[in-house]
Amino acid sequence: METLIDIRDLSKTYLTGSFKVEALKKVSLKIKAGELVSLVGPSGSGKSTLMHILGFLDRPDSGEYYFAGHPTASLGEGRLAAIRSRMVGFIFQSFHLLKRTSAKDNVLLPMVYSGLGTDSQKALECLRLVGLSDRVKHKSNELSGGQCQRVAIARALVNDPLILLADEPTGNLDAKSRQEVMQAIKDLNGRGLTVVIVTHDEEVSAQTRRVVRMKDGGIVSDEVREPAPGAAPAAAPEVRAMRLPEARLGFTPSEIAEQFTVAFKAIWTHKMRSALTILGILIGVGAIISLMTISEGFMKSLLSGATEDDARKVWVTPRWERLKGRLPLTYADLEAIKAGCPLAEKITPILSRNAKVSAGNKHVDAGIESHEGFTFEEQKNKKNFFDNVNVTGRFFTPAENLNRARVAVINQTLAKKLFGSEAAVNNELRLQNISFTIVGVAEDGQAGQIFGGRPMAYIPFNTAAKRVFGSIRPDYIGVTAPTPGDAPEARKQIILALRKERNLAEDKNDNFEVKTFEAQVKLFKDGMGKLSLVVYAIAGISLLVGGIGIMNIMLVSVTERTREIGLRKALGAKNSDILSQFLIEAVTLCLIGGALGVALGFGLGWAAYFFIKVPPALGLGTISFAFGFSTIIGVSFGFWPALRAAMLDPIEALRYE
Ligand code: ADP
Ligand code: MG
Repeated sequence: METLIDIRDLSKTYLTGSFKVEALKKVSLKIKAGELVSLVGPSGSGKSTLMHILGFLDRPDSGEYYFAGHPTASLGEGRLAAIRSRMVGFIFQSFHLLKRTSAKDNVLLPMVYSGLGTDSQKALECLRLVGLSDRVKHKSNELSGGQCQRVAIARALVNDPLILLADEPTGNLDAKSRQEVMQAIKDLNGRGLTVVIVTHDEEVSAQTRRVVRMKDGGIVSDEVREPAPGAAPAAAPEVRAMRLPEARLGFTPSEIAEQFTVAFKAIWTHKMRSALTILGILIGVGAIISLMTISEGFMKSLLSGATEDDARKVWVTPRWERLKGRLPLTYADLEAIKAGCPLAEKITPILSRNAKVSAGNKHVDAGIESHEGFTFEEQKNKKNFFDNVNVTGRFFTPAENLNRARVAVINQTLAKKLFGSEAAVNNELRLQNISFTIVGVAEDGQAGQIFGGRPMAYIPFNTAAKRVFGSIRPDYIGVTAPTPGDAPEARKQIILALRKERNLAEDKNDNFEVKTFEAQVKLFKDGMGKLSLVVYAIAGISLLVGGIGIMNIMLVSVTERTREIGLRKALGAKNSDILSQFLIEAVTLCLIGGALGVALGFGLGWAAYFFIKVPPALGLGTISFAFGFSTIIGVSFGFWPALRAAMLDPIEALRYE
C-alpha cells in the first residue's frame, strides 16, 4: 500500500500572552492509502491541531509533512487552497452547513471552488451514498443532526478527495444518528477512501481497525487490530497519479455566480440594515445627479432655443473700467465696424435704458429697448434679434418707425405687472410722460422664463432716439456674421477696428467688449461650474459619510459571517474568492444607492422644474457617472473589510463564536 500521509517530528506551539501551549510535540505518523484510523485522546491532547495540519488548514512550527510523497512546507496559500479543495474532505463536529441553504446546494459548494464547475448529478450521487436521496431540497434547518452530518459527509466527498478528515463527527449526535454516520463513513472506507476520525468516544474508535492514542501533544500508542473473523476484506485503495494541484488564478463562472448569490443574499436577508446603509450613498448621488440633470437641462434648452442666427451674432458692449466708468459706444464706433469688418453682414445699434413705466396707478421699473430695424418686416422674415419670440398682437410697421409712432411691444412679465390677467394689447402705457399704445405682447424668452423675467418694453428706434432718449448713441451693437463659423473671425475684425478707432496703444487692454454666442455659452457653463462646486462639496461629504456607513456595515457583515468564511476556506475557497465576494456585496450596496440616487436626482430635477421651468435632462453620461462613482465608493470603502475577511485564518474563523 502506498503511503499517503507521512509526518515527521511535527511541533506546534500556541502562545497566549506569555503562556505557551505545546499542542504538538515532535509527532511522527504514517497513514497508508485506504486506512481507517481513529485518533483518540482526552480533550486538549492536540488531536484537532494535528488534524488541521493534516488537512492544510494550519501549518506546523517545525517538522516535515509529506503528502502523497510531496513535501508541503514551501507551498503557498493558493496552492494549499487548491489541495484542500481537490484532495481533502473535512467533517466537523458542528456540521458547519450553510444556513437556509438546501442539502444539495451545500453539497455543491466545494465544487464551486474546485475550478471544475458544479455538477448536480455528482451532488445527488453523493447524497445518495449517505442515504439522503429524499432530503435533497431540505434546508439545513429542516434536517436532524444526523442528517446534517450526513450532508456534511456528502459535501466532503463531492470533489473525490484522497482523504476524509473527521473531527468528532459524532460528538453532537444521539446514539442512533451516531451509528448512521459511522456506517456511512465505514462504507466509504470500504470503497477505498482513506479516513482519519478524531474522537474521544471509545465506541467510535472500536469500529476502526487502527487506533492512534494521543496525550499532551504526543502519540502514546498506535495499534492495529486484527479484523474480526468473517469481516469483509478491505477494498484495494484507488491509486491515482498524485501531483499536487496548482494554485488557481481568476474565477470560474460558477465561482462568480456564487459570489454574486452570496452578496445578494446577504443584502436581502438584512433589508432594513441595507436600506439604512444605502441612504448616505443615495443622498450624495441624488444631490449630484439633481444638479447635473438641471444644468444639463439648462444647457439643452439654452442651445435648443438658440438658432443658427443666434450663433451668427457678435455683441459689442461697453466695458466697465475702474476710474473711467463705462466708456460709451459711439456712432464713430459703429462706422469703424462698418469700415473695418467686412464679415459684418448687418450692424444693428441698440438703445437700451432703464425707465419707469406706468399704466393707471401701477408703476414698474422696466428695461426700454430699441433695435434699429426692429420692424414688423424683419420679424416676419425672422431676421431681427428676437426671431424666436412669439408675439400676441403685432410688431411695429416701418411706417411707425419712420413717423416715430408712440407704439410699444412689451414682454409678458411687464404685461403681468401692469395689467395682471387683463389683456395688455390696445391698452396704454406711459413712459416719461409720453403715452404709448401697446400693439403686441412678446412671450418671455427662455432666459426670462427661467429667471422670472425682467420687465421689458420695446419701442421703435426713431421714437426712442428722437422722443424718449434724445440720443442715437448705441448702448450696444449687434453684428451678424454670414455663418456661425464666421463669428469668431468677425469678432477679431471688430476688435481691430475698434482699437484703431479708439487709438489704443499695443500695451493697452480693450476698453470695450466683443462677445460671440459661443463665448456666452461658455460663460454660462463656467457660472454653472462654480455653482456646482458648492453642491459637489455637499454631495462629497454625504458620500464620505455614506462610504463610512458602507465600511461599517461591511465590517459587521464580515464579523457575522466569520465562521462561514472559515468554512468556505476549508472547502477550498481562495483568499481572492472571499475578497471579491465581500467587494461585490459592498459595490452592490453602492450601486443600489447609486441607482436610487439617479432616480431621486432626476425627481428633484423635475421638482425644480416648477420653479425654474427648465425640464431636467438625464444623459447617458450622467447615468454612467453615477454608476461609475458608486462603484468607486463601493470598492474603496469595501476593500478594507473585504481584505480583513480574505486574510482570516481558516481555523480561527471556524472556531469563532
Ligand atoms: P483536542 O482537539 O485534542 O481537544 P486541540 O488540538 O484543540 O486539542 O488543542 C491542543 C492544545 O492546544 C489545547 O491545550 C488547546 O488549549 C491549545 N490550543 C489549541 N488551539 C489554540 C489556539 N488557537 N490558541 C491557543 N491555544 C490553542
Ligand atoms: Mg478537538
